[in-house]
Amino acid sequence: MKPIVPTLRTTHRRLPDRGSHERDVIEAILDEGLVCHVGFAHEGQPYVIPMSYARMGDRLVLHGAPGSRLLQELGAGAPVCVTVTLLDGLVLARSAMHHSVNYRSVVLLGRASAVQDEAEKRAALRAIVEHVVPGRSAEARPPSEAELGATLVLAVPIEEASAKVRAGPPKDDEEDHALPCWAGVLPLSLSTGTPVPDPRLRPGTPVPLTVAGYRRGR
Ligand SMILES: Cc1cc2nc3c(=O)[nH]c(=O)nc-3n(C[C@H](O)[C@H](O)[C@H](O)COP(=O)(O)OP(=O)(O)OC[C@H]3O[C@@H](n4cnc5c(N)ncnc54)[C@H](O)[C@@H]3O)c2cc1C
Repeated sequence: MKPIVPTLRTTHRRLPDRGSHERDVIEAILDEGLVCHVGFAHEGQPYVIPMSYARMGDRLVLHGAPGSRLLQELGAGAPVCVTVTLLDGLVLARSAMHHSVNYRSVVLLGRASAVQDEAEKRAALRAIVEHVVPGRSAEARPPSEAELGATLVLAVPIEEASAKVRAGPPKDDEEDHALPCWAGVLPLSLSTGTPVPDPRLRPGTPVPLTVAGYRRGR
């Protein structure tokens, strides 16, 4: 796959040592995230809308109702900015000023295009299901023709993108290290609860391993 080349727009200016344009770094963050935030401007007003997504090779795929303003706008080729953020920890410094967060994030710039080909559209929808719950597409009924027709699938090329990563302890001012204030990192991670069966579940349907064994993140 093509390397990601920094552009004027994706060159980190603020704390560039935390930045990366390595495709592997960017893809790993995209593959771990569950939610992306899709930013676009409509009549001069910026909107940032949360969505599900999946990475399919060097494309990020999105889906939704063809009537949605968001998808219409993007499908018409509007410039888009997609971000994915993984929160790894709260960084508690001795000074209020140096509090921070440990994170891994991606910013992707580009234009979306509609996926028209039926097989490709099915593959994209399958990729979104698999991205959220690996193995689930083998368990659930695939989309019918009508469902497929009622779903717009968009793809954004992963070409102009950047990652940024913060890790490690707080960075307090030297003189503050003497303060009697706890400082460090409170790690954060995504965890699952106990699966709640649908009230209309067929009696005796076991919880599949895709659900019982679900894990996300490191
Ligand atoms: C969970 C979280 C919380 C944050 N909280 C704050 C906060 O409260 N205040 C604050 O100032 N900053 C915060 N940041 C950092 C913030 O995302 C920006 O990196 C920072 O504000 C600099 O923005 P800028 O547009 O001036 O950066 P610039 O360096 O000018 O951005 C240039 C380019 O660098 C890339 N880039 C910048 N930031 C990121 C990023 N986070 N991920 C991937 N690519 C990036 C983009 O391609 C961007 O177009 C936070 C980040 C995360 C993930």
